[in-house]
Amino acid sequence: MGVIYFATGNAHKLAEVREIVQPLVPGLSDILGMPSDLGEPVEDGVSFAENAAIKARHVADALGVPAMADDSGLCVDVMGGAPGIFSARWAGRHGDDAANLDLLLAQLADVLPGNRGARFVCAAALALPSGEVMIEEGEMRGSLRFERAGSNGFGYDPIFEPEGFTVTNAELTPTQKNAISHRRKAFEKLAAHIPGVLG
Ligand code: IMP
Repeated sequence: MGVIYFATGNAHKLAEVREIVQPLVPGLSDILGMPSDLGEPVEDGVSFAENAAIKARHVADALGVPAMADDSGLCVDVMGGAPGIFSARWAGRHGDDAANLDLLLAQLADVLPGNRGARFVCAAALALPSGEVMIEEGEMRGSLRFERAGSNGFGYDPIFEPEGFTVTNAELTPTQKNAISHRRKAFEKLAAHIPGVLG
C-alpha cells in the first residue's frame, strides 16, 4: 500500500483531493498533507501550471519521494482572467478568503448578470525525485452572484454558481462539488500517473 504527499496547507483542498484521488488509485492508502517543517516555496511562476510544479518540486526534492501539488484560482471573463494566479492574495494578504471575496464583489458591483461569467482553473502537478514533473489541468465554468450564499467549500465558492446549477458551490455538498470541480477534472487525469510512481 502506498502513500503520496500533497503539498498544501489548505485543509479543504486536502479533503477534496483525498475524496477525488483515493477511489481512483486502489493501491493508495493515504494522501499526506505538506510536512509543516518544510516551509513554503516562493511561488514566482506566472501560470497555474508553473506554480503547481514549483509546489510539487519543493516537497519531492526535500523528501526524495513523489509529491503532488495544485495551483488554482478564479478567472473572471470581464476582468481579463483576473484574479487568476493572484486569487489567494487578491486583497493583499495570502489566504484571506473573506477580504478577497469582498474586494471582488465591490469591483463587480456594476457588472450586469449576463456579463458575470467566470471559471475556476486548477493545474495539478506530480513531481518525481528524478526531476520529472507531470501536469494536468481542469476547469469549471459558471457565473458570479452579487451576494454570498451557502457555507460549504472555501474561497470564492459562496458567489460562484456553476453552469447548469441554480445554487452556488457553497450550497453544494462536498461530494456534489467534487463531481464537477476544476480540481476533480485535473486530479482525475493526474491520478492515472500515480500507480506507475508508487514505491
Ligand atoms: P492556491 O492555494 O495558490 O491554489 O490558491 C487558490 C485560491 O483560489 C484560493 O485561495 C481561493 O481563493 C481560490 N480557489 C481555488 N479553488 C477554489 C475552489 O474550489 N473554490 C473557491 N475558491 C477557490
